[in-house]
Amino acid sequence: MERKIRLLVIEDETAIRTGLVDVFVFHGYEVDSAQDGNAGLAKALSGQFDLILLDLMLPGMDGFEICNAIRQVDRDLPIIMLTAKVSDDDIIRGLELGADDYVGKPFSVAQLVLRVKAVLRRSKVVAQLANQILLAGEVEIDAQNLAGRRGTEELTFTRREIDILQYLKANSERPVPREELLQRVWGYASDVDLETRTVDIHIAKLRRKIEPDPKVPINLVTVRGAGYRLMPDG
Ligand code: CA
Repeated sequence: MERKIRLLVIEDETAIRTGLVDVFVFHGYEVDSAQDGNAGLAKALSGQFDLILLDLMLPGMDGFEICNAIRQVDRDLPIIMLTAKVSDDDIIRGLELGADDYVGKPFSVAQLVLRVKAVLRRSKVVAQLANQILLAGEVEIDAQNLAGRRGTEELTFTRREIDILQYLKANSERPVPREELLQRVWGYASDVDLETRTVDIHIAKLRRKIEPDPKVPINLVTVRGAGYRLMPDG
């Protein structure tokens, strides 16, 4: 199953903490929380999270100390500070300690969600997730590196094969006609005499790589009369 982005909310005020958890769960994230500095730091360093929402004023360690401690071991983990202190000094200090952004309290939830998305877009993990294609039968594909594996078997792909998989993945809610693949992946104009056999040959090659049994496809299926459909795992 393609995993969700995981957020950690470190915030001592119960109403804000539970409110943030609810909002981000609603937006499709997996969210955990901590209510004091020490527990928050331990969770933040667990390696499970893609982004930390970090309150500044906390019992135990404060947000500055936590940010600093995270940066000693992880330079890339995205951190957004939530701060009622809006003095320039505090903001500068937070950013110098390696926070990626800050949001002043009281904050607008809609704006915070946008900030989280913006910081995640710049982070490495999201780029990696976007390039990852997971399929049934223990198939993992790393689109960026034209590589993958099925169980213990290493797979390599051509650029064209990856382009086909990514186009099908982006449209996985429907079967994609062969003509559309020729136009969108190969760049054929729609009025040329389309060589749909080219598509079939590539699909057959792909199936030998990504299907546990190429004769009975479960990942890259044929929808009769409609085209090919990729069935992402999960
Ligand atoms: Ca607080």
